[in-house]
Amino acid sequence: MKIALLQARGAAEKSACSGRFQASQGLLRGIFRTRGILMHELSLAESMLNAALRTDGVTADNLTGVNIRCGAMSGVSVQTLEFCVRLVCEQLDAGEVSVKIEEIPVGLRCKCGHNYEAVDVFSECPECGGSEHGVICGKDVLLESVEVKDG
Ligand SMILES: [Zn+2]
Repeated sequence: MKIALLQARGAAEKSACSGRFQASQGLLRGIFRTRGILMHELSLAESMLNAALRTDGVTADNLTGVNIRCGAMSGVSVQTLEFCVRLVCEQLDAGEVSVKIEEIPVGLRCKCGHNYEAVDVFSECPECGGSEHGVICGKDVLLESVEVKDG
């Protein structure tokens, strides 16, 4: 069963989490500090799983999948984020959880009005060749949905 969660925005989530979860955070922080890995992805992973577990029908026991959309300009490493999500799942004593992270290209809107996708913000407009544009998407990391056991 798939539960859509697009409104749960990882970066914005700061929540009251369960005692069990809080206990695991200290441990995780310790691991990460010693390995010198950026904390950003870990915080995101924690807040996304917090959001998932606050959703009706989702528990650490029945969670089987996490689907994330990661903007190319979010500054988040997909590999690191996946690693962190798995780590947090482990700390939550979740069973086998599949982690899918879809990378979303940067969406730019040129001064000429043309919208286009690009690998980075330096890409020129395919319509007019201009390079003055605004970023319309690709900065966010979103928890799109989670999968839980049926029944
Ligand atoms: Zn243009």
